[in-house]
Amino acid sequence: MMSQLKLVGKKAEHSVFDLAGLVIGGKEIVLMGGPCAVESREQMIAAAETVRHSGGKVLRGGVFKPRTSPYSFQGLGEKGIDYLVQAAKDNNLMSVTEVIDTESLKLVQDKVDIIQIGARNMQNFQLLIEVGKVNKPVILKRGLAATVEEWLLAAEYILASGNPHVILCERGIRTYEPSTRNTLDLSAVVVAKQLSHLPVIVDPSHAAGRTDLIPALAKAAIAAGADGLLIETHPNPAEAKSDGGQSLTLEQFWQLATELVKVAESVGRTFAGPVKVQESLQSLRAEIDAVDADIVGLLAKRMKVVNKVAEHKTIDRIKDANREREVVERLSRLAQSLQCPPDLVKEIYNIVFDYGVKSQLHSKITVEGNVSEILR
Ligand code: PEP
Ligand code: MN
Repeated sequence: MMSQLKLVGKKAEHSVFDLAGLVIGGKEIVLMGGPCAVESREQMIAAAETVRHSGGKVLRGGVFKPRTSPYSFQGLGEKGIDYLVQAAKDNNLMSVTEVIDTESLKLVQDKVDIIQIGARNMQNFQLLIEVGKVNKPVILKRGLAATVEEWLLAAEYILASGNPHVILCERGIRTYEPSTRNTLDLSAVVVAKQLSHLPVIVDPSHAAGRTDLIPALAKAAIAAGADGLLIETHPNPAEAKSDGGQSLTLEQFWQLATELVKVAESVGRTFAGPVKVQESLQSLRAEIDAVDADIVGLLAKRMKVVNKVAEHKTIDRIKDANREREVVERLSRLAQSLQCPPDLVKEIYNIVFDYGVKSQLHSKITVEGNVSEILR
C-alpha cells in the first residue's frame, strides 16, 4: 500500500501547513467548532463568538447537508454560506463547510477558507479530483466504514490532482457497538500519522453522537496525537435542526476548551485556550456571553412549550396563580441551594409568567379588552 501513497506517504517530517495564518500540524492544537448546520445569522454569530473566545481558529457550519433521510433538514444552501462566512470574518476565524458534489463545490470554493469532504463522500473520486484542483485546504473525513488505507488513498487523489493541503479527519467508524453513534477509532489517528505526513484531526461529535462523551473523547484525541479537533456546538442544541443530541452548548464548548489547555501541555503540545484563562475582564465576559446565549435558548424553548400548554387550557384558566406560586417556591429553594439569590429568581419568574400568560391569551383571543380583563 505504501508504494501507492506517493504524495501522502510518510516523509522525514510531518507537514506543517501555514494556511493564511492558521498553522496546523505543528506543536499547536487547532480547535474548530460550530453547529452541524447553518440555521440563521444569529446562530452563527453566537457560535462564532464562542469559538473565538474559546481560543478556536475555525468556524464550521454545514449548508449542504448529506442527510441519511431525504425528509431531514437539507441545509440552507447558498444563503447559509453568507451567514457562516460573515460570522467567521467578524470574529477573525476561518470558515469550513462541506461540499457534496461539484456544483456545491463551485458555489463555495471562492467564499469559504476550508472545504470539507464528508464521510459519505470520501470515495466520491470525481469530487476528490475536483477539490484537488482548488486552491483551498481540504478536511477529508474518514468514510463510515473505510480502512485507513482507503482513507489515505482518497487523500492521495486530492494531492495527485494538485492540492497539497489535505487535513485528515477521523470521525468514528461503524461497528457493532450500539451505545454510540459510531466508534471513535483513535488507533487510526496514530496509524495515519505513522503512514502519512498529513495533519490529522478528530471529530468526536459524529463519532460519539452523544454530548456527554465529547469532552472525554476530545481529550483522548489530543493525548493520542491529533493535531486538532472539530466539534459541534450550538446556541440551543435542543432546538437544533440537525445533530442536536451531539452538540455541546456554547458554555460546554468554552468549558472544554479551558480543560484542553492542560491536556495539550501534558503531551508536549500547546493550546492557548480561552482568551486568558486567568480571570481577566475579557475572559469573564466571554464566559457570561456564552451563558447568556444558553439562557436565551432555554427561554425560547420554554416559550414554545408554554404556547403548547395553551391548547390544553380554557381561556379562564390561563392564569393559574397557585401553579405560579408553587413553581416560584420550588425554584427559589433551588436557587438558594445553588447560591443564587432567590429574589432574583422570583423577579425574573414574575416577568416570565407574565409573558407566558400574555402569549397564551394571544393565541386564544385577539380582542384587547378581554386580554386586559383576564390579566387583572
Ligand atoms: C458533518 O461534519 O456535518 C458531517 C456530516 O460529518 P460526517 O461527514 O463525518 O458524517
Ligand atoms: Mn453533524
